[in-house]
Amino acid sequence: MSYNFLDLKAANEPYLDDMVEAAARVIRSGRYVGGRECELFEQELAAMTGAAHCVGVSNGLDALRLIFKAYIELGILKPGDEVIVPANTYIASVLAVSDAGLKPVLVEPSERTLNLDTSLVEAAVTQRTRAVMVVHLYGRVCFDRILLDVASRHNLLIIEDVAQAIGALSFTPGVNGGDRAGALGHAAAFSFYPTKNIGAAGDAGAVTTSDDRLAVAVRALANYGSDRRYHNIYQGYNCRLDPIQAAMLRVKLPHVADENADRFARALAYFRTISHPNVIKPLMSEDVVDNVWHQYVIRVTGGYRDRMKAELAARGVATDIHYAMPPHLQPCYATLFDGVRLPVSERLASEVLSLPIARGTTVKDAADISRIINSITLQS
Ligand SMILES: *Cc1c(COP(=O)(O)O)cnc(C)c1O
Repeated sequence: MSYNFLDLKAANEPYLDDMVEAAARVIRSGRYVGGRECELFEQELAAMTGAAHCVGVSNGLDALRLIFKAYIELGILKPGDEVIVPANTYIASVLAVSDAGLKPVLVEPSERTLNLDTSLVEAAVTQRTRAVMVVHLYGRVCFDRILLDVASRHNLLIIEDVAQAIGALSFTPGVNGGDRAGALGHAAAFSFYPTKNIGAAGDAGAVTTSDDRLAVAVRALANYGSDRRYHNIYQGYNCRLDPIQAAMLRVKLPHVADENADRFARALAYFRTISHPNVIKPLMSEDVVDNVWHQYVIRVTGGYRDRMKAELAARGVATDIHYAMPPHLQPCYATLFDGVRLPVSERLASEVLSLPIARGTTVKDAADISRIINSITLQS
């Protein structure tokens, strides 16, 4: 037997005919930038999240970048302002902040959730802190009363990176009372990169917000800074959502809940079956909805992660690592984060191992892979 980590063709198989039909619809329409598919997609994603507005954009990184740039154009953020960002995240979260001329201030994760430890946020707040970014890493919502409280006392914007968590619910209502990822903070960025829970057939992203002015500014910035035809109020970009991708995504959006439920079932099989002295499983209970299991990430302790990965590969189980090097240690940030030490994030990077969880992996596969893990002896 062999187990793929991720088979994108298998992931798209149930949608194939509808995706081909949707692409053909756009090609036949004669409208290749913007248009009806983009508008409908935006309405549908806004309705799904509960945010007042959605702006479709080119990808997840651009979604985050545009949010920060728009706040700067609106005079709400200024270059040099500090933004608190989780240290344990994909680098795109940090890139969006530094690219906008803002200063990313990295805060360590909780060892329980692997998400930003909200109890450490207050200590990182300075006179210049204006925003905090939460990343719902691996699909688990990062949002609680502690965060809301510190954000409201220090007047901080809350920006969500929802790239990995479409459809996830929060137990704590957001700043505007919403309860779904994308409607918890002041603005949120989605990615529809093909490997995400809902993936396009290429790059795509979206911004959601209930702030009318922010939505208008993001839309203008993504379209050369133009507020109406041949009239430019900002020095903008071309970061628009491709209508073919909008049409692809409209095929899949109605299935967010089913896709996430299937991921939950595979996660539950791992949770119930894995039992190994060197493996720490992600937190899980049988009824919790605040995690949409973008990745099922175990920690292998004792310095045995690479050995476990190799032993699994030898038994036909493909795994991946998200992420082997935290952003502050990346060469591109050698100057900005010179001397910064983040021991929890650094240790996690040496322990994490992602198991197959996407469509294409069955519940039985997850149980079989768990038994293979249990059978591996690491101590020599
Ligand atoms: C994928 C991802 C992004 C970037 O999205 P792209 O569409 O690939 O640009 C940002 N943040 C996180 C947490 C991601 O997983």
